Amino acid sequence: MAQEDVFKKVVSHCKEYGFVFPSSDIYDGLGAVYDYGQNGVEMKNNIKQYWWQSMVLMHENIVGIDSAIFMHPTIWKASGHVDAFNDPLIDNRDSKKRYRADVLIEEQIAKYEEKVEKEVAKARKRFGDAFDEQKYRETSPKVAEDLAKRDALHERYSKAMNAMDLDELRQIILDEEIVCPISGTRNWTEVRQFNLMFKTEMGSTADGASTIYLRPETAQGIFVNYLNVQKTGRMKIPFGIAQIGKAFRNEIVARQFIFRMREFEQMEMQFFIKPGTELDWFQTWKKTRMAWHQNLGFGAENYRFHDHEKLAHYANAATDIEFKMPFGFKEVEGIHSRTNFDLSQHEKYSGKSIKYFDPELNESYTPYVIETSIGVDRMFLSVMCHSYQEEQLENGETRVVLKLPAAIAPVKLAVMPLTKKDGLPEKAREIIDELKFHFNCQYDEKDSIGKRYRRQDAIGTPYCVTVDHQSLEDNTVTIRFRDTMEQERVNISGLLGIIEDKVSITSLLKKLK
Ligand code: ATP
Repeated sequence: MAQEDVFKKVVSHCKEYGFVFPSSDIYDGLGAVYDYGQNGVEMKNNIKQYWWQSMVLMHENIVGIDSAIFMHPTIWKASGHVDAFNDPLIDNRDSKKRYRADVLIEEQIAKYEEKVEKEVAKARKRFGDAFDEQKYRETSPKVAEDLAKRDALHERYSKAMNAMDLDELRQIILDEEIVCPISGTRNWTEVRQFNLMFKTEMGSTADGASTIYLRPETAQGIFVNYLNVQKTGRMKIPFGIAQIGKAFRNEIVARQFIFRMREFEQMEMQFFIKPGTELDWFQTWKKTRMAWHQNLGFGAENYRFHDHEKLAHYANAATDIEFKMPFGFKEVEGIHSRTNFDLSQHEKYSGKSIKYFDPELNESYTPYVIETSIGVDRMFLSVMCHSYQEEQLENGETRVVLKLPAAIAPVKLAVMPLTKKDGLPEKAREIIDELKFHFNCQYDEKDSIGKRYRRQDAIGTPYCVTVDHQSLEDNTVTIRFRDTMEQERVNISGLLGIIEDKVSITSLLKKLK
């Protein structure tokens, strides 16, 4: 299946099976805002649990908080968001469509890379078994030419972005002859800066009301609570504060479903450390976070680091963890070494000292910070895209199955009476009444067993149990496994033992060790 088709299918599957709906659906939706349905919310909660527990339960020196979305407006001045949380935007006069200038150029860079890959693929076909790929890449004049163009463009682009030279960004778009994908023309406006923060007003009278912002990241809620947590928790450096919560950005181009939303959720952890140790801790957190992702079993080849060349002015190292989505490798998580920028800024703007007294060194300093920041929704999307599969069965039928990690699946067990009579529904309910304290169970008695299995496959339920007449006699049921579709006769009393461990977040956490 073409990757583009996979993505389209995932989007419609999410809606059809109660995972993700467009917000305000009966009013035709609201741009780049989405709601999670009955299955989506369970899966999202499981992802959050996996993250939260891996941070807060697994690390003695990491604690959590839940700070408010509204914060003192000066915080966003101190953090730099009021002055610098901008994207460069450009409009096409013919289509009236708006684009991010940086994204247009990055896509152009990617095109040169795609061209190289196409050349290599063509040569591989031409030369067959005798093909020496490395040699070809090193010696082909065509490959060399494309790579040179890519590097030159990359250098020019980095320079323009570092200097935020808007005229130069526009000039690059013109020189590269980048066209609007809708109108096909090069009729571009100037490039302008656009601040991504949503504003609102707090206070009841027009005079007394002050402008406040919907937070564009959860991190600042952690920084401004650093002192509170450090003191009340008697935390010693190194230590971390974790938080999960909503963030809001008025994205210029919101597309690709829940990849880029205007209201989304972040899971962030700020790790406070001694100055000078940040590059070691940066490496440690890179490793730890990559292991967390790969622990889901989606295959190491689907992840990569993308180290930033253009660093924010306060950062001294930064990388993204990218996942192979159907539309290419994309950022799911950022890991940043933020120096002591945020805490120093809050010291300056609040006038409060945010120093840590290090008893070992017998001196005070403003701690440095390593940040790990992951979007819940992007994580959700990556899990969905990877798990969605269409399988050709022996009987010629196709089944759609979500091969979700069992611990992430919204429903863990479906219990199905073979018929709606003869006491089978009651027996099925008995099983659920016992197991519902341990994990999410679903009762299903409608349609044929085959159809019921398909329904559960489509939402990724790892186990189905069928109650039949024999169950009434000997307390056994058939358990069916989602991935292999194999069935086994087991005793009802053994179900908890078979299922519980496999579907728990604990099982995932134990594998991390
Ligand atoms: P991008 O370059 O894709 O805009 P970013 O580098 O601005 O992302 P960060 O500010 O580092 O993103 O935010 C950390 C994480 O928050 C990202 O890795 C992503 O998973 C998530 N995130 C950021 N913006 C959005 C959004 N608009 N919709 C959904 N998730 C988002």
